[in-house]
Amino acid sequence: MRIAMIGTGYVGLVSGACFADFGHRVCCVDKDSAKIDGLNAGVMPIWEPGLEAIVKANAERGRLTFTTSVSEGVKDAEAVFIAVGTPARRGDGHADLSFVFEAVRELAKVMKPGTVVVTKSTVPVGTGDRIEQILREEGLADAFVASNPEFLREGAAIADFKHPDRIVVGAEDERTRDVLKEIYRPLFLNRAPILFTGRRTAELTKYAANAFLAVKISFINEIANLCEAVDADVQDVARGIGLDNRIGPKFLHAGPGYGGSCFPKDTLALLQTADAAGVDQRIVRTTVEVNDERKSAMAERVIRMMGGDVSGKRVGVLGLAFKPNTDDMREAPSIPLIKTLLERGAEVSAFDPVAHHQAEQVLSGIHFAEDAYAAAADADALVIVTEWDEFRALDLDKIAAALKGKVLVDLRNVYDREEAEQAGLTYFGVGRGKIA
Ligand code: NAD
Repeated sequence: MRIAMIGTGYVGLVSGACFADFGHRVCCVDKDSAKIDGLNAGVMPIWEPGLEAIVKANAERGRLTFTTSVSEGVKDAEAVFIAVGTPARRGDGHADLSFVFEAVRELAKVMKPGTVVVTKSTVPVGTGDRIEQILREEGLADAFVASNPEFLREGAAIADFKHPDRIVVGAEDERTRDVLKEIYRPLFLNRAPILFTGRRTAELTKYAANAFLAVKISFINEIANLCEAVDADVQDVARGIGLDNRIGPKFLHAGPGYGGSCFPKDTLALLQTADAAGVDQRIVRTTVEVNDERKSAMAERVIRMMGGDVSGKRVGVLGLAFKPNTDDMREAPSIPLIKTLLERGAEVSAFDPVAHHQAEQVLSGIHFAEDAYAAAADADALVIVTEWDEFRALDLDKIAAALKGKVLVDLRNVYDREEAEQAGLTYFGVGRGKIA
């Protein structure tokens, strides 16, 4: 099939490349000409494992092309996917749909009648209805609009796209469903469950999924707080509950609070939808509050563990991206942590294996170290913020020798207290017994 992808970011580029890999012909469109020029020259705009190989292979086969021109991308397409950003609108947290509607108006002018428009962007309930209305306003008598929310995870995006837990397609007519079925047929053959629902249901399903995961993370973070008060170990509690099939082991890792490009904005947008519908969502509202408080409390925690005053002290930080295997800094817990440390007069020396460049855009006044040991050099404490694999097997003796103050604050529970103490470090994990 011929597919156009409007928006060539984390979701659009991965989806476009994977669709091309299935054998479809895909044209990825983005209004950011630097991004498109880079892609045409073989330079990836994001860091995602496995992406470069699949993009290059399909570009060479002529199945994957890149352009800034909507009309060029859309003119022959049987389906147009919208994968532009839907950030939280400043002030109220509502999903900002201006990029989506701008894209729809542009493509409506150039697409051929009968083309199916599919939202892959995460959009509030009813957005598909509004898209349909815009298409009709632009003179398309028959509008075919589907919702196909994306569930991939950054850092594992290719595998998630190719082997999804499920594909959700919301459509209101048979023809639209058939086009989506054809597009996903290669996965269908691989027995990926495909769930056909109404369009509004599909839109809500995405928000419900992200909100549930955010609740799960905040739940274990609150249990971690309790563990610290009553001298219990949250790792063992998480294992003890996670082995129950009804609960499951994932998203039960206590840490500095969730960040990233999705959970923070999607929980806020869900609350806006609920407000508009006059239906309170107390659990999600509380989760947002719990997580916001947690993220801003992390700096105070580090300061407390460094004796209460960090003025003139040096803090080494390991990991800046919001999670491992990505360079995405959106809403990363490292940002409020580092900003507060700097405000309190600390010097920060940070290392991230790939997010250095992205971090420079949002954090100023910090020193970027070349590796973990350089970040620890002469620091009064070392803080693990993102659990990159390469931080899981550090030579703790070497870390201890590099540090001036022998404090390791492990916000991801990567290490055991005993091994850290054997290396001469004072160790603070999250939710692992009473904190002295
Ligand atoms: P992104 O910011 O990485 O990419 C969006 C791209 O759209 C940008 O390159 C931007 O230049 C482009 N764009 C905006 N308006 C355009 C227009 N009119 N025409 C052409 N290009 C345009 O965003 P993302 O992280 O890929 O997220 C996209 C959507 O997918 C969001 O709704 C997000 O919530 C959802 N989503 C993201 C993830 C994730 O892990 N990042 C996972 C699932 C769903």
